[in-house]
Amino acid sequence: MRQNIVAGNWKMNNDLSQTETLITALKKQKHRSDVEVMIAPSFTNLWNAFEALRQSDIEVVAQNMHFAENGAYTGEVSAAMLKSIGIQTVILGHSERRAYFNEDDALLAKKVDAALANDMRVVFCFGEELADRKAGNEEAVVESQIKNALFHLEASAFKNIVLAYEPVWAIGTGETASPEQAQDMHKFIRETLSNKYGKALGDNMSILYGGSVKPANAKEIFSKPDVDGGLIGGAALNAADFYAIVNAF
Ligand code: PEP
Repeated sequence: MRQNIVAGNWKMNNDLSQTETLITALKKQKHRSDVEVMIAPSFTNLWNAFEALRQSDIEVVAQNMHFAENGAYTGEVSAAMLKSIGIQTVILGHSERRAYFNEDDALLAKKVDAALANDMRVVFCFGEELADRKAGNEEAVVESQIKNALFHLEASAFKNIVLAYEPVWAIGTGETASPEQAQDMHKFIRETLSNKYGKALGDNMSILYGGSVKPANAKEIFSKPDVDGGLIGGAALNAADFYAIVNAF
């Protein structure tokens, strides 16, 4: 089912006390019941965040995970470990993971499989770089990222997947895709899924936009028919800004 979602990706920000302070501020905010809200603190603070938000309508999600169940993977965290502290959703394929940690489509396909095998939900990120857009290749790049990481899945798996289109040139740069650029790409993504899996699946996918979404531009971006919400970086670190975005539908 298509769902309005706003997810805050905290990246490598906020130590324990900062996490507690931000969560206290988030808990004072209110949102419509038809908008799902997620926050993704760092691994060290997931448990505290989960406990602090247990009775709330904010879901605590992970920013990453490894594909293996367990084993000799120093520094990594598995789906089973996340599940064991109550985490049900994981962000995979963020452009920073792709760029700085060499995560390619093949690795991401394994991570997606591992998350789904553990009954987790995946927020799957992808998006073109500036050079791709300048060359007019943005649709081809996005299509290949989706196909390579997701098109081995059965249609039924997509009920546990949320897509996040994040043009790399708009992440953390202050430069946003125009609402029209976001709409055009989201429509293309929906069509790509429909072509492979049928119209009902494409129509039901939740597709988030990410890339310098702020209180000032969220309403216009979210008003586009194929945009179902946002994955928010910088603006998710401030409770008032984040909730201005959550309430921009
Ligand atoms: C992100 O990290 O996914 C992101 C969209 O960041 P920002 O909102 O800061 O551009």
